[in-house]
Amino acid sequence: MSGEPRYAGIDVGATNTRAVVANATGEVRGRARDRTTRVSDGDRVAEEVVGVLREACGGAGVGPDDLKAVGIGAIGPQDDRGGVVDPPNHPADRIPLVAAVEAATGASVRLRNDAVAGVIAERRFADAPDNAVYLTLSSGVGAGVVVDGHVLTGSGGNAAEVGHITVDSTGAVACGCGGRGHWEAYAAGTNLPAYARHVHGEGVETDLDLGEVTAPDLFAAPDDPLAAEVLDRLARWNTLGAAALVHAYAPDLVSVGGAVACNNPAAVVDPVRERLPDHVVTSVPEVRVTPLGDEVVVRGALALALPE
Ligand SMILES: [Zn+2]
Repeated sequence: MSGEPRYAGIDVGATNTRAVVANATGEVRGRARDRTTRVSDGDRVAEEVVGVLREACGGAGVGPDDLKAVGIGAIGPQDDRGGVVDPPNHPADRIPLVAAVEAATGASVRLRNDAVAGVIAERRFADAPDNAVYLTLSSGVGAGVVVDGHVLTGSGGNAAEVGHITVDSTGAVACGCGGRGHWEAYAAGTNLPAYARHVHGEGVETDLDLGEVTAPDLFAAPDDPLAAEVLDRLARWNTLGAAALVHAYAPDLVSVGGAVACNNPAAVVDPVRERLPDHVVTSVPEVRVTPLGDEVVVRGALALALPE
């Protein structure tokens, strides 16, 4: 019965939750999306995630208990009981995702780091080669890696938590994890306003209202001296991080997703492509914006659920 929608994928991001419901060949028949509830009560967050899944099921004309398998790509860190624990870019203590989705569906449920789901989607739906990296630049920074055709998961599923690579050895800016100088502290969309205030403190002038400024404001003002300086430094941190990834994993492709990259490809992805050859001593990979757009993680989550 490959035509019936019995498989689902869920993307639980720090900002948005998405769900799709598909048949056994991966044709999406229902989708839904909502803001991820930003409260400390992880049980409530999980229930709201189930609500998005129910809505996607409704769009596909099935009930949650018709599902055979569900995949979830979610923010980390994750524990071995199917939960998200103390994420640095969300206020929840523990979000029991697998338990909540199992209880609502009776289906088998698999959970992976969202960036790992991203690289699985690149492989299944976007022709990524046997050696590839999916890099997300969004509310956080992370990566999913395939080496010799194998998806790397690592202890606790936390392989390639590259947002916490130190790119700035002076440690000028604090990361949400408590460390300093980490890639994510500079490049995550949620951290760019604080970084702009930091650079302003070094004496760079601006016409922007730094009390209210958002990441989209910075990208919309490339002629402002401060915004221009922040975007140039952002390109440097992203290039150093990407070069570390290339030296660690030797990918032939770096596919970049996440809202910061997908909404600003010329300001965010093009400079990395241009600068990377100057920072890499091994072969330089293709650098692209993910062709799967803002559905890359939810499609990877779906791939986790689909039959092989
Ligand atoms: Zn960190």
